[in-house]
Amino acid sequence: MRGRIWLGLWFGAVVLVAQPAVEKPAPLVIHAGRLVDVRAGRVLRDQTIVVENGMITQVGARVTSPPNATTIDLSSSTVLPGLIDAHTHILLQGDVTAADYDEQLLKESIPYRTIRATVAARTALMNGFTSIRDLETEGAMYADVDVKRAIERQIIPGPRIFCSTRAFAPTGMYPLLGYSWELKLPEGVQIVDGVDNIRKAVREQVKYGADWIKYYSDRRYYVKDGVLHSWVNFPDEEARALVEEAHRLGRRVASHAIGSDGIAAALRAGVDSVEHGDGFTDDLLDEMVRKGTYWCPTIFIADYDAKARAETGGPVWLQMRELEEQAFRRGLAKHVKIVFGTDVGGFPWTVNAAKEFSYMVRYGMPPMEAIRSATLAAADLLEQQDKLGAIEAGKAADIVAVHGDPLSDISELERVYFVMKNGVVYKQ
Ligand SMILES: [Zn+2]
Repeated sequence: MRGRIWLGLWFGAVVLVAQPAVEKPAPLVIHAGRLVDVRAGRVLRDQTIVVENGMITQVGARVTSPPNATTIDLSSSTVLPGLIDAHTHILLQGDVTAADYDEQLLKESIPYRTIRATVAARTALMNGFTSIRDLETEGAMYADVDVKRAIERQIIPGPRIFCSTRAFAPTGMYPLLGYSWELKLPEGVQIVDGVDNIRKAVREQVKYGADWIKYYSDRRYYVKDGVLHSWVNFPDEEARALVEEAHRLGRRVASHAIGSDGIAAALRAGVDSVEHGDGFTDDLLDEMVRKGTYWCPTIFIADYDAKARAETGGPVWLQMRELEEQAFRRGLAKHVKIVFGTDVGGFPWTVNAAKEFSYMVRYGMPPMEAIRSATLAAADLLEQQDKLGAIEAGKAADIVAVHGDPLSDISELERVYFVMKNGVVYKQ
């Protein structure tokens, strides 16, 4: 008797799991009280969004609801496109100090770190980030590709992930450093030296699933005559080969570049996005505009980390925070293509990465522009402008909602209460 009940339940569970793949999902109709039209830069009232098979098929004040549609009432909310964080580290759980970083690489196995990464991915989605560009695994090899696969196969909830796998730096220019030479230690990146070695390594990363290629352009930051400088990691010839090989294989390149020297080297190499960029000078910002290069400033983390990093790494970390604010204000005035990116993982995933929005607005960016940086501009960076970044017919149904008005209080975006990705509701 007991056995039969158990069997019945077991079969019931199997039927439930199998259902989504077999049955075509019913169309959804969302009533949006306020809808942020990121393309026009305005808020529309009382709009209806029709979602069929994971895609948005109609948007407007008067639309024809398909028969047997399920209604989702967001009539007292502000509805926005799913947010995109263009700089994350799902395989990192905060590395304010070097000790935090070393501990994760030395005491945690890659499987353990990957389990934590699945939680980070879920957190990103629940915070309203329906897509992320994950900018390297910090020693966890290609585990980002595995997390991405598990999400795509609907084994675990998470955002759409654009992976960059292992990132690159030359020998001796990225942690772990400072240990006895007798020890064989894990590397935080893939170590590459010389043009041939670099080309092969780019091919290898693409082979194992890299959507993006990331490298570290600089390290050792210092201020001289009011300008933030740095030591450049790769000779120009090597950085150029890296970018050229990535582009040849249809991959874009992100470069960590904090000091002016590192930014200048990255621009000479022809990268697609500059990460951090605290040391931007006017000339370098002009060059960004001329070349159409994207800038992912990651300003919240500079504030979050400043004190602790200054204690162990010197006062330059406090100066960097101020210099980044100045650079951000000048970049805004020059209309550099700024994309929302937070470096979450560099700070713990328990802190909502959407705090970045408040910093952007505090540093002079209008709220609508801040929202665009995490929607339209980020979709453009990812070459997903046809699929992501706006609530429009023909786009993926990635939709979030907040109760208040993010245009009058941008911190509303830290309180996303409704999340849909590909037409599936993950939070309500
Ligand atoms: Zn980062």
